[in-house]
This record gives sequence, structure tokens and C-alpha cells, in this order.
Amino acid sequence: MTGQDARVPCPRCLSAQVPGGEALSALLRQWIGAIPEERRADEAVRRARLAACRACAHLNAGTCALCGCYVEYRAAHAAQRCPDAPGRWPA
Ligand code: SF4
Repeated sequence: MTGQDARVPCPRCLSAQVPGGEALSALLRQWIGAIPEERRADEAVRRARLAACRACAHLNAGTCALCGCYVEYRAAHAAQRCPDAPGRWPA
């Protein structure tokens, strides 16, 4: 498959690992950077949230099947919660 991305979509991947996802990943970093600092979750919180997402059956190639959000963007908002009931993100 010369010139094409032969990677297979992975439902457990975040944006950068999704085939062709580099541009999306860069865009998400831009959006996250635009969140006012006082409303942005800190790095440790984001990492813990995304670890839960990566272990979750609702993760689908960087988006949450329950809410439709890009999980990296959702996890970057301090006030956001996991939409599952009960929530899967650490408190
Ligand atoms: S249900 Fe929660 S843990 Fe699962 S992908 Fe969505 S936000 Fe992440």
C-alpha cells in the first residue's frame, strides 16, 4: 500500500495513534492549549483520566462512544466528568 497509511484503526487508541491522526492530534493540542488555565485539568489528572479511557470499552479511536467527545479534549477540562454511570475516571 505505497503512499497510504496501512495501519488498522484501533478502538483503544487516542488520536495520535489513529491512522492519519497526527493532524487531529495537533488540532486537539491546540484546542486544549486554548482552554483557560483555571479551567484546564492538570497533566496528572489528564493522564489518569486517559488511562481509564484506554482501558474502557467505550473508547473508539479517540472518541467516547457515550458522549461523542474526543476524550483528550474532554479530559483536559477540569470540570468535565466521564459520562458513564458510574464514571470511570478517578475522582
Ligand atoms: S466512558 Fe468514560 S472512560 Fe470510557 S471512553 Fe468515555 S470518557 Fe473515557
